Amino acid sequence: MDALNLPDPKNKARVVVIGGGFAGLNFVNKLDTDNYQVVLLDRHNYHTFAPLLYQVATAGLEAPDICGPLRKTFRSKQDFHFRMLVVHGIDPAAGHVSTEAGTIRYDHLVLATGTRANFFGNDSIEHHAFPLKTVPDARRLRNHIFQTLERADLTDDPAERERLMTFIIVGGGPSGVEVAGALSELRKHVLSKDYPDTPIDRLRFVLVEGGDQLLSAFSDKSSDDARRNLEDMGIELHFGQLITGYDGRTATFKDGSTIASGTVIWGAGVTGEVVVGLRDDSVRRGQYVVDDRLRVAGYENVYALGDVAYLTSDAWPKGHPGVAQVAIQMGKRLAENLNRAAAGKQPEAFEYFDKGNLAIIGRNRAVADLPKNIHFNGIPAWFVWAFVHIFYLIGFRNRVFTFLSWTGNYITYNRAVRLVLEPSLEEELRSEKVS
Ligand SMILES: Cc1cc2nc3c(=O)[nH]c(=O)nc-3n(C[C@H](O)[C@H](O)[C@H](O)COP(=O)(O)OP(=O)(O)OC[C@H]3O[C@@H](n4cnc5c(N)ncnc54)[C@H](O)[C@@H]3O)c2cc1C
Repeated sequence: MDALNLPDPKNKARVVVIGGGFAGLNFVNKLDTDNYQVVLLDRHNYHTFAPLLYQVATAGLEAPDICGPLRKTFRSKQDFHFRMLVVHGIDPAAGHVSTEAGTIRYDHLVLATGTRANFFGNDSIEHHAFPLKTVPDARRLRNHIFQTLERADLTDDPAERERLMTFIIVGGGPSGVEVAGALSELRKHVLSKDYPDTPIDRLRFVLVEGGDQLLSAFSDKSSDDARRNLEDMGIELHFGQLITGYDGRTATFKDGSTIASGTVIWGAGVTGEVVVGLRDDSVRRGQYVVDDRLRVAGYENVYALGDVAYLTSDAWPKGHPGVAQVAIQMGKRLAENLNRAAAGKQPEAFEYFDKGNLAIIGRNRAVADLPKNIHFNGIPAWFVWAFVHIFYLIGFRNRVFTFLSWTGNYITYNRAVRLVLEPSLEEELRSEKVS
């Protein structure tokens, strides 16, 4: 036995993978373990289907519906070993990674650590705003939304009620648009019935975007469609507006204006989850610089995949987009190359096949940009979006439950999971006082 109770790989090379996201998962799935021992490390023991986090945050789905247990996913894979832990550092000279539980030796190291929310050094926003990157983030936000509505229902102070009923969403990318749309649907179809004594029509959703359009990575047509739809759904859109601070009660903007608000949802930026230890010049603005074989600059046996990899090409001179398809395709390409190497074949360069962009705005409202300049919206885009998301969810249970939840919500307009489970009202008020 090696460190952390790992079996000796004997005559095989050991591949250590940090991160069981889209990239790590697809890499492990494709890697031929007749030739390699694979050790997957992640701080969670499940894969998160991040594109549906907003549904958990807005009470459309339960957390387990969008998570795949990593041990179960790979339980029939030979010589696969999972360890749940946080990796703290890499020692490329010694060929090991250091973790909270000890060190692990590797022959090949795959960095697939994704991103975390980036608050650009703004402590007040980091402390008080709600990011949406992980399942705990989504559950925390959902509890807070319903806790806040309960508090709005209790107060007889109109200014305080108005503050509690004002939700600010920062960032007009897919996450911000999806959350804003889902909150608007929740207001219309659920909250208006659940809170008869609260003026739910006064519930304000303000989406703040620093640029001059929504969904800037999409076509102009889709971006305009998203704007029109959100306006139609009663979302206030503020363009060219940068938030500079939030103390839990008031958001301040660069132009000096303020909005009293009980909730700021942060979807304005992410940065790579870089594990320390590699040469300085192998990291650029929070991502590992990789070549077209996905090797980190300066290393033969260290690779980076997905959101944490910075790869430029003629088609993508500023780097590839931080989307699931890039991560999936990188994971598969690297595994195929390692399989080829084991068979004495030359590796092939990574080339991204862009299948297009999809974003959902609400019931029957979505936008789709497909290759060859095909753009469409409305019900057809909504169905494509639903099909793609169910298709890519891992695990039979998740697909079935998600499909049933969506169909149920679609027919009944109901939202199943609107219980406030934690924190208690006392805890929430206490944390507001001490912060
Ligand atoms: C709210 C939201 C909505 C999104 N919507 C879409 C969408 O609609 N379409 C789309 O294509 N993309 C979407 N994305 C982006 C997409 O989720 C990412 O591009 C994709 O997850 C990248 O995959 P990855 O494997 O690189 O990283 P991730 O999926 O982020 O996985 C990284 C893994 O590494 C683990 N990890 C990180 N650091 C450590 C460490 N030090 N030790 C141990 N484990 C570690 C994490 O726990 C995580 O499991 C969305 C992202 C978010 C947050």
